[in-house]
Amino acid sequence: VRNILLNPGPVSISEGVRHAMTAVDLCHREAEYFNLQQQVRSKLNAVYALDNADWVPVLLGGSGTTALEAMVSSLLPADAQVLVLENGVYGERLSKLAAIHGIPNQSIKQGWKDAWNLERVEAELGSGQYSHVLAVQHETTTGRLNPAGALAGLCEKAGVGLFLDTVSSFGAEAIPFASPALLACAATANKCLHGVPGACMVMARRVALDSAVKPARTMTLDLALWADHQQRQSTPFTPPVTSLLALNQALDELFKTGGQKGRHAHYLRLANRVATCLALLGIHPMLEEGSSSCVLRSYALPPRLSYEQLHDGLKLRGFIIYAGQGALANEMFRISTMGDISDYDLGRLLSALEDVIS
Ligand SMILES: *Cc1c(COP(=O)(O)O)cnc(C)c1O
Repeated sequence: VRNILLNPGPVSISEGVRHAMTAVDLCHREAEYFNLQQQVRSKLNAVYALDNADWVPVLLGGSGTTALEAMVSSLLPADAQVLVLENGVYGERLSKLAAIHGIPNQSIKQGWKDAWNLERVEAELGSGQYSHVLAVQHETTTGRLNPAGALAGLCEKAGVGLFLDTVSSFGAEAIPFASPALLACAATANKCLHGVPGACMVMARRVALDSAVKPARTMTLDLALWADHQQRQSTPFTPPVTSLLALNQALDELFKTGGQKGRHAHYLRLANRVATCLALLGIHPMLEEGSSSCVLRSYALPPRLSYEQLHDGLKLRGFIIYAGQGALANEMFRISTMGDISDYDLGRLLSALEDVIS
């Protein structure tokens, strides 16, 4: 029996993706590779029906954080005044990225279990001192789906640009691409898109790329360089060929199963079944109802059950769950239902949960 990954990426992959990844050897300076690169880029725009005239998908080798660092370091000038919204590990990481690249930034810090305070965001933006906002759409720390659409509206009103971390939401949640405030978002192959680690991407508005930082702060994360090459069927350095083969197949499978909306509905159904089963076993969500993404939920650990007991019991039965981070490690656990997980797999998971918990 295969291991089912219930951690927030890398995800369990389909047999189709596993095969596509190993079926051919490609030289990255041949037409066959450039065809693959172009196909993946077109399909990424198609996930959210983005207009190729306005949006440029830029492929990079690396993890989700690589895409974030490329976005922040390439598109935020040294004289930017950035407001970062923090309510978890990943929001805090955005502040660190801005600081590492010497970009002036201030943050609104909320507790990890708390929602954004949009009134406060609106008041800060109304001060006129900020040029950009950096924020996480799906805060994977707790599974909270932050209101990215409402934030984009506030940015639009204040005339500031918005950069989003959509690493754990791209492909499954609605993203406010229609808002002119949204300048770029960062994503990865191995979360909601169901590819494998190694490839990540920044979806950038052409106008944002046109005013990318020059000279670039880094060589390998220079989005303008990668975008320029990829738009003329080239690549500056060796790309993650194998991961792109997997992603190309994974994107075909996404379209065959109803695209982003189909994936949202599938994840939601699985997450609700897990929640119902856990509630019967006396285990309840950490966040208030209606605030979680379809991708991941966090649950409070019951007294008399440690994370290790739960984790090890499930692992013996072929399921990998995920611990809480930092101060939440002893309080909660996380179950993500992203990846190639069928109803059959889910049925087995529910029996395993019953076994281990009762
Ligand atoms: C997974 C994740 C990242 C990036 O993680 P990597 O380990 O670099 O792939 C960033 N932001 C969010 C919200 C994530 O869920």
